[in-house]
Amino acid sequence: MTKQQTALVCGAGGFIGSHLVKRLKQEGFWVRGVDLKYPEFSKTAADDFVIGDLRDQSVCRDVLDQPFHEVYQLAADMGGAGYIFTGEHDADVMHNSASINLNLVDLCKKHGVGRVFYSSSACMYPAYNQEDPDNPKCSEDSAYPAAPDSEYGWEKLFSERLYLSYQRNYGLLVRVARYHNIFGPEGTWTGGREKAPAAICRKVAEANDGGEIEIWGDGKQTRSFLYIDECVEGTLRLMRSDFIGPVNIGSEEMVTIDELAEMASRIAGKNIKIKHVPGPTGVRGRNSDNNVIRQKLGWEPSMALEEGLRRTYSWIREQVEKSLVENVASQR
Ligand code: NAD
Repeated sequence: MTKQQTALVCGAGGFIGSHLVKRLKQEGFWVRGVDLKYPEFSKTAADDFVIGDLRDQSVCRDVLDQPFHEVYQLAADMGGAGYIFTGEHDADVMHNSASINLNLVDLCKKHGVGRVFYSSSACMYPAYNQEDPDNPKCSEDSAYPAAPDSEYGWEKLFSERLYLSYQRNYGLLVRVARYHNIFGPEGTWTGGREKAPAAICRKVAEANDGGEIEIWGDGKQTRSFLYIDECVEGTLRLMRSDFIGPVNIGSEEMVTIDELAEMASRIAGKNIKIKHVPGPTGVRGRNSDNNVIRQKLGWEPSMALEEGLRRTYSWIREQVEKSLVENVASQR
Protein backbone atom coordinates (compact mmCIF):
# COMPACT_ATOMS: atom_id res chain seq x y z
CA MET A 1 0.00 0.00 0.00
CA THR A 2 1.41 3.44 -0.84
CA LYS A 3 1.67 5.91 2.01
CA GLN A 4 -0.94 8.71 2.01
CA GLN A 5 0.44 11.99 0.65
CA THR A 6 0.57 14.85 3.13
CA ALA A 7 0.36 18.59 2.61
CA LEU A 8 0.72 21.66 4.78
CA VAL A 9 -1.16 24.74 3.56
CA CYS A 10 -0.05 27.99 5.19
CA GLY A 11 -2.72 30.66 4.80
CA ALA A 12 -5.42 27.95 4.62
CA GLY A 13 -8.00 30.32 6.09
CA GLY A 14 -7.54 32.71 3.18
CA PHE A 15 -9.10 32.83 -0.25
CA ILE A 16 -6.69 30.78 -2.37
CA GLY A 17 -5.57 28.58 0.54
CA SER A 18 -9.10 27.43 1.39
CA HIS A 19 -9.81 26.50 -2.24
CA LEU A 20 -6.47 24.71 -2.50
CA VAL A 21 -7.22 22.65 0.62
CA LYS A 22 -10.51 21.49 -0.95
CA ARG A 23 -8.70 20.41 -4.10
CA LEU A 24 -5.94 18.56 -2.18
CA LYS A 25 -8.60 16.71 -0.19
CA GLN A 26 -10.32 15.70 -3.44
CA GLU A 27 -6.98 14.26 -4.51
CA GLY A 28 -6.76 12.13 -1.36
CA PHE A 29 -4.13 14.09 0.58
CA TRP A 30 -4.00 14.34 4.36
CA VAL A 31 -3.99 18.12 4.80
CA ARG A 32 -3.03 20.39 7.68
CA GLY A 33 -4.02 24.02 7.34
CA VAL A 34 -2.67 26.89 9.39
CA ASP A 35 -3.83 30.48 9.58
CA LEU A 36 -4.70 33.30 11.97
CA LYS A 37 -8.34 32.54 11.20
CA TYR A 38 -10.68 29.87 9.83
CA PRO A 39 -12.02 30.36 6.30
CA GLU A 40 -14.73 33.00 6.45
CA PHE A 41 -17.28 31.57 4.05
CA SER A 42 -17.27 27.79 4.38
CA LYS A 43 -15.98 25.12 6.71
CA THR A 44 -12.37 24.13 6.07
CA ALA A 45 -11.85 20.82 4.29
CA ALA A 46 -8.52 20.28 6.11
CA ASP A 47 -8.03 17.20 8.33
CA ASP A 48 -6.27 19.33 10.89
CA PHE A 49 -6.53 23.11 11.15
CA VAL A 50 -4.23 25.07 13.42
CA ILE A 51 -5.04 28.62 14.43
CA GLY A 52 -1.66 30.22 14.85
CA ASP A 53 0.58 33.14 13.97
CA LEU A 54 3.33 32.09 11.57
CA ARG A 55 5.46 35.09 12.55
CA ASP A 56 6.04 33.13 15.73
CA GLN A 57 8.81 30.55 15.30
CA SER A 58 7.33 28.21 17.89
CA VAL A 59 4.03 28.08 15.97
CA CYS A 60 5.96 27.27 12.79
CA ARG A 61 7.84 24.50 14.60
CA ASP A 62 4.57 23.03 15.88
CA VAL A 63 2.88 22.93 12.49
CA LEU A 64 5.95 21.89 10.51
CA ASP A 65 6.75 18.88 12.63
CA GLN A 66 7.17 16.29 9.88
CA PRO A 67 8.54 15.92 6.34
CA PHE A 68 5.34 16.85 4.51
CA HIS A 69 5.29 15.77 0.87
CA GLU A 70 4.05 19.21 -0.17
CA VAL A 71 4.12 22.58 1.61
CA TYR A 72 2.16 25.49 0.13
CA GLN A 73 3.16 28.90 1.50
CA LEU A 74 0.29 31.31 0.86
CA ALA A 75 0.19 33.21 4.16
CA ALA A 76 0.84 36.92 3.73
CA ASP A 77 -0.27 40.27 5.04
CA MET A 78 -2.12 41.45 1.97
CA GLY A 79 -5.16 43.11 0.52
CA GLY A 80 -6.36 45.06 -2.49
CA ALA A 81 -5.21 48.51 -3.61
CA GLY A 82 -6.98 50.12 -0.63
CA TYR A 83 -4.64 48.24 1.70
CA ILE A 84 -1.40 47.93 -0.27
CA PHE A 85 -1.04 51.31 -2.01
CA THR A 86 -1.94 53.83 0.67
CA GLY A 87 1.46 53.50 2.38
CA GLU A 88 -0.13 53.15 5.81
CA HIS A 89 0.56 49.43 6.11
CA ASP A 90 4.05 49.28 4.56
CA ALA A 91 5.98 48.35 7.71
CA ASP A 92 3.48 45.66 8.72
CA VAL A 93 3.30 44.19 5.22
CA MET A 94 7.08 43.86 4.98
CA HIS A 95 7.72 42.70 8.52
CA ASN A 96 4.83 40.26 8.79
CA SER A 97 5.25 38.51 5.46
CA ALA A 98 9.06 38.40 5.57
CA SER A 99 8.97 36.92 9.10
CA ILE A 100 6.59 34.18 7.98
CA ASN A 101 8.78 33.28 5.01
CA LEU A 102 12.06 33.37 6.96
CA ASN A 103 10.60 31.04 9.57
CA LEU A 104 9.01 28.59 7.16
CA VAL A 105 11.72 28.16 4.58
CA ASP A 106 14.29 27.23 7.20
CA LEU A 107 12.01 24.65 8.83
CA CYS A 108 11.21 23.16 5.42
CA LYS A 109 14.93 22.64 4.95
CA LYS A 110 15.39 21.17 8.43
CA HIS A 111 12.52 18.69 8.00
CA GLY A 112 13.45 17.73 4.46
CA VAL A 113 9.97 18.38 3.09
CA GLY A 114 9.25 17.06 -0.41
CA ARG A 115 8.51 20.35 -2.14
CA VAL A 116 7.65 23.91 -1.18
CA PHE A 117 5.41 26.19 -3.20
CA TYR A 118 5.78 29.94 -2.72
CA SER A 119 3.09 32.36 -3.93
CA SER A 120 4.73 35.49 -5.25
CA SER A 121 2.81 38.22 -7.05
CA ALA A 122 2.78 40.21 -10.28
CA CYS A 123 3.23 43.20 -7.95
CA MET A 124 6.97 42.45 -7.97
CA TYR A 125 7.32 43.55 -11.62
CA PRO A 126 8.94 46.94 -12.23
CA ALA A 127 6.58 49.89 -12.33
CA TYR A 128 8.49 51.40 -15.30
CA ASN A 129 7.26 48.54 -17.55
CA GLN A 130 3.64 49.13 -16.61
CA GLU A 131 3.10 52.77 -17.48
CA ASP A 132 1.39 52.18 -20.82
CA PRO A 133 -2.06 50.66 -20.15
CA ASP A 134 -2.17 49.12 -23.65
CA ASN A 135 1.24 47.55 -23.55
CA PRO A 136 2.41 46.42 -20.10
CA LYS A 137 5.40 44.11 -19.91
CA CYS A 138 5.29 41.31 -17.34
CA SER A 139 7.43 38.55 -18.81
CA GLU A 140 9.31 36.64 -16.13
CA ASP A 141 12.68 37.90 -17.41
CA SER A 142 11.62 41.55 -17.08
CA ALA A 143 11.84 41.54 -13.26
CA TYR A 144 15.20 43.36 -13.13
CA PRO A 145 16.35 46.07 -12.62
CA ALA A 146 13.80 45.76 -9.83
CA ALA A 147 11.34 48.60 -9.19
CA PRO A 148 8.07 47.29 -7.72
CA ASP A 149 5.54 50.03 -7.00
CA SER A 150 4.75 48.86 -3.45
CA GLU A 151 6.48 47.45 -0.38
CA TYR A 152 4.23 44.40 -0.85
CA GLY A 153 5.96 43.83 -4.21
CA TRP A 154 9.43 44.32 -2.71
CA GLU A 155 8.74 41.74 -0.01
CA LYS A 156 7.52 39.27 -2.66
CA LEU A 157 10.73 39.79 -4.62
CA PHE A 158 12.86 39.30 -1.51
CA SER A 159 11.00 36.12 -0.56
CA GLU A 160 11.18 34.66 -4.08
CA ARG A 161 14.94 35.08 -3.82
CA LEU A 162 14.93 33.62 -0.32
CA TYR A 163 13.22 30.40 -1.47
CA LEU A 164 15.37 30.15 -4.59
CA SER A 165 18.55 30.57 -2.53
CA TYR A 166 17.48 27.65 -0.30
CA GLN A 167 17.08 25.59 -3.46
CA ARG A 168 20.58 26.54 -4.66
CA ASN A 169 22.42 26.22 -1.35
CA TYR A 170 20.50 23.45 0.43
CA GLY A 171 18.79 21.52 -2.38
CA LEU A 172 15.30 22.36 -1.04
CA LEU A 173 12.87 21.73 -3.89
CA VAL A 174 11.00 24.99 -4.37
CA ARG A 175 8.43 26.15 -6.89
CA VAL A 176 7.64 29.84 -7.28
CA ALA A 177 4.57 31.31 -9.00
CA ARG A 178 3.75 34.95 -9.63
CA TYR A 179 -0.03 35.19 -9.32
CA HIS A 180 -1.88 37.86 -11.28
CA ASN A 181 -5.16 39.08 -9.67
CA ILE A 182 -6.96 35.94 -8.60
CA PHE A 183 -10.72 36.23 -8.06
CA GLY A 184 -13.78 34.10 -7.46
CA PRO A 185 -16.39 33.00 -4.93
CA GLU A 186 -15.42 32.96 -1.25
CA GLY A 187 -12.90 35.78 -1.68
CA THR A 188 -12.91 38.95 0.42
CA TRP A 189 -15.72 41.11 -0.98
CA THR A 190 -16.02 43.94 1.55
CA GLY A 191 -14.15 45.61 4.42
CA GLY A 192 -11.25 47.32 2.61
CA ARG A 193 -9.02 44.41 1.59
CA GLU A 194 -11.12 43.30 -1.38
CA LYS A 195 -9.73 43.45 -4.93
CA ALA A 196 -11.25 45.17 -7.97
CA PRO A 197 -13.49 42.33 -9.31
CA ALA A 198 -15.05 41.69 -5.88
CA ALA A 199 -15.42 45.41 -5.11
CA ILE A 200 -17.05 46.04 -8.48
CA CYS A 201 -19.41 43.05 -8.16
CA ARG A 202 -20.44 44.28 -4.70
CA LYS A 203 -21.06 47.83 -5.90
CA VAL A 204 -23.10 46.57 -8.86
CA ALA A 205 -25.08 44.18 -6.65
CA GLU A 206 -25.85 47.02 -4.22
CA ALA A 207 -26.80 49.53 -6.94
CA ASN A 208 -30.28 49.98 -8.37
CA ASP A 209 -30.93 49.60 -12.08
CA GLY A 210 -30.09 53.03 -13.55
CA GLY A 211 -27.89 53.82 -10.54
CA GLU A 212 -24.24 54.77 -10.25
CA ILE A 213 -21.07 53.15 -8.92
CA GLU A 214 -17.73 54.70 -8.01
CA ILE A 215 -14.51 53.55 -9.67
CA TRP A 216 -11.08 54.63 -8.41
CA GLY A 217 -9.03 56.58 -10.97
CA ASP A 218 -10.02 57.24 -14.57
CA GLY A 219 -11.08 53.63 -15.22
CA LYS A 220 -8.61 53.34 -18.11
CA GLN A 221 -6.04 51.38 -16.08
CA THR A 222 -5.78 47.81 -17.40
CA ARG A 223 -5.54 44.44 -15.64
CA SER A 224 -6.16 40.76 -16.24
CA PHE A 225 -7.96 38.52 -13.76
CA LEU A 226 -7.68 34.79 -13.19
CA TYR A 227 -10.50 32.64 -11.89
CA ILE A 228 -9.68 30.72 -8.69
CA ASP A 229 -10.09 27.18 -10.11
CA GLU A 230 -7.54 27.95 -12.82
CA CYS A 231 -5.17 29.34 -10.21
CA VAL A 232 -5.37 26.14 -8.16
CA GLU A 233 -4.90 24.01 -11.29
CA GLY A 234 -1.83 26.01 -12.34
CA THR A 235 -0.40 25.85 -8.82
CA LEU A 236 -0.65 22.05 -8.66
CA ARG A 237 0.72 21.61 -12.16
CA LEU A 238 3.72 23.78 -11.31
CA MET A 239 4.27 22.05 -7.97
CA ARG A 240 4.45 18.64 -9.61
CA SER A 241 6.48 19.69 -12.64
CA ASP A 242 10.24 19.86 -13.01
CA PHE A 243 10.11 23.62 -13.54
CA ILE A 244 11.23 25.72 -10.58
CA GLY A 245 9.88 29.05 -11.80
CA PRO A 246 9.30 31.85 -11.12
CA VAL A 247 6.39 31.63 -13.52
CA ASN A 248 3.33 33.80 -14.10
CA ILE A 249 0.01 32.22 -13.20
CA GLY A 250 -2.49 34.63 -14.67
CA SER A 251 -4.82 35.38 -17.53
CA GLU A 252 -3.82 37.18 -20.73
CA GLU A 253 -7.33 38.60 -21.23
CA MET A 254 -6.63 42.23 -20.42
CA VAL A 255 -9.47 44.70 -19.79
CA THR A 256 -9.77 48.25 -18.49
CA ILE A 257 -11.37 48.66 -15.07
CA ASP A 258 -14.28 50.44 -16.78
CA GLU A 259 -14.73 47.42 -19.07
CA LEU A 260 -14.74 45.17 -16.02
CA ALA A 261 -17.46 47.32 -14.44
CA GLU A 262 -19.47 47.26 -17.68
CA MET A 263 -19.15 43.47 -17.83
CA ALA A 264 -20.39 43.12 -14.24
CA SER A 265 -23.34 45.45 -14.99
CA ARG A 266 -24.21 43.39 -18.07
CA ILE A 267 -24.08 40.17 -16.04
CA ALA A 268 -26.33 41.76 -13.41
CA GLY A 269 -28.74 42.92 -16.11
CA LYS A 270 -28.51 46.49 -14.78
CA ASN A 271 -27.90 49.78 -16.48
CA ILE A 272 -25.20 51.36 -14.29
CA LYS A 273 -23.36 54.67 -14.68
CA ILE A 274 -19.72 54.90 -13.69
CA LYS A 275 -18.44 57.80 -11.60
CA HIS A 276 -14.66 58.18 -11.45
CA VAL A 277 -13.30 59.25 -8.08
CA PRO A 278 -9.75 59.69 -6.76
CA GLY A 279 -8.35 56.56 -5.11
CA PRO A 280 -5.34 54.24 -5.03
CA THR A 281 -4.97 52.50 -8.39
CA GLY A 282 -1.47 50.99 -8.67
CA VAL A 283 0.28 50.74 -12.04
CA ARG A 284 -1.44 51.94 -15.27
CA GLY A 285 -1.37 48.57 -16.98
CA ARG A 286 -0.72 44.94 -16.10
CA ASN A 287 -1.27 41.71 -17.96
CA SER A 288 0.05 38.20 -17.54
CA ASP A 289 2.56 36.96 -20.11
CA ASN A 290 1.97 33.23 -20.45
CA ASN A 291 4.77 32.27 -22.84
CA VAL A 292 6.83 30.56 -20.14
CA ILE A 293 3.95 28.60 -18.58
CA ARG A 294 2.82 27.45 -22.06
CA GLN A 295 6.33 26.35 -22.88
CA LYS A 296 7.34 24.76 -19.54
CA LEU A 297 4.06 23.26 -18.36
CA GLY A 298 2.29 22.83 -21.71
CA TRP A 299 -0.74 24.45 -20.10
CA GLU A 300 -2.33 27.84 -19.60
CA PRO A 301 -5.61 29.06 -18.14
CA SER A 302 -8.46 29.17 -20.60
CA MET A 303 -11.66 30.30 -18.84
CA ALA A 304 -13.08 33.54 -20.25
CA LEU A 305 -13.17 36.46 -17.79
CA GLU A 306 -16.92 36.86 -18.35
CA GLU A 307 -17.62 33.29 -17.19
CA GLY A 308 -15.52 33.70 -14.03
CA LEU A 309 -17.13 37.05 -13.32
CA ARG A 310 -20.61 35.57 -13.76
CA ARG A 311 -19.88 32.92 -11.11
CA THR A 312 -18.32 35.50 -8.79
CA TYR A 313 -21.14 38.02 -9.22
CA SER A 314 -23.71 35.40 -8.39
CA TRP A 315 -21.90 34.53 -5.13
CA ILE A 316 -21.35 38.19 -4.14
CA ARG A 317 -24.98 39.07 -4.85
CA GLU A 318 -25.99 36.34 -2.40
CA GLN A 319 -23.61 37.79 0.24
CA VAL A 320 -25.01 41.30 -0.27
CA GLU A 321 -28.59 39.98 0.07
CA LYS A 322 -27.67 38.01 3.21
CA SER A 323 -26.05 41.03 4.84
CA LEU A 324 -29.10 43.19 4.05
CA VAL A 325 -31.35 40.64 5.75
CA GLU A 326 -28.98 40.52 8.77
CA ASN A 327 -28.94 44.32 9.02
CA VAL A 328 -32.71 44.50 8.98
CA ALA A 329 -32.93 41.74 11.62
CA SER A 330 -30.39 43.48 13.89
CA GLN A 331 -32.39 46.75 13.76
CA ARG A 332 -35.57 45.08 14.98
P1 NAD B 1 -5.75 36.02 1.72
O1 NAD B 1 -5.47 37.30 2.43
O2 NAD B 1 -7.16 35.62 1.52
O3 NAD B 1 -4.97 34.83 2.41
C1 NAD B 1 -3.78 35.00 3.12
C2 NAD B 1 -3.97 34.35 4.47
O4 NAD B 1 -2.75 34.48 5.21
C3 NAD B 1 -5.08 35.02 5.30
O5 NAD B 1 -6.09 34.09 5.62
C4 NAD B 1 -4.35 35.50 6.54
O6 NAD B 1 -5.11 35.39 7.74
C5 NAD B 1 -3.13 34.59 6.57
N1 NAD B 1 -2.07 35.19 7.37
C6 NAD B 1 -1.61 36.47 7.32
N2 NAD B 1 -0.69 36.64 8.27
C7 NAD B 1 -0.56 35.47 8.93
C8 NAD B 1 0.23 35.04 10.02
N3 NAD B 1 1.07 35.88 10.62
N4 NAD B 1 0.10 33.76 10.44
C9 NAD B 1 -0.77 32.91 9.85
N5 NAD B 1 -1.55 33.26 8.80
C10 NAD B 1 -1.44 34.53 8.36
O7 NAD B 1 -5.00 36.13 0.31
P2 NAD B 1 -5.09 35.19 -0.98
O8 NAD B 1 -5.74 35.99 -2.04
O9 NAD B 1 -5.61 33.87 -0.63
O10 NAD B 1 -3.54 35.09 -1.36
C11 NAD B 1 -2.74 33.99 -1.00
C12 NAD B 1 -1.31 34.27 -1.41
O11 NAD B 1 -1.23 34.55 -2.81
C13 NAD B 1 -0.69 35.48 -0.69
O12 NAD B 1 0.65 35.19 -0.39
C14 NAD B 1 -0.77 36.57 -1.72
O13 NAD B 1 0.23 37.54 -1.52
C15 NAD B 1 -0.58 35.79 -3.01
N6 NAD B 1 -1.17 36.49 -4.15
C16 NAD B 1 -2.53 36.60 -4.25
C17 NAD B 1 -3.07 37.27 -5.32
C18 NAD B 1 -4.55 37.44 -5.47
O14 NAD B 1 -4.97 38.07 -6.44
N7 NAD B 1 -5.38 36.89 -4.60
C19 NAD B 1 -2.24 37.84 -6.31
C20 NAD B 1 -0.88 37.71 -6.16
C21 NAD B 1 -0.35 37.02 -5.10
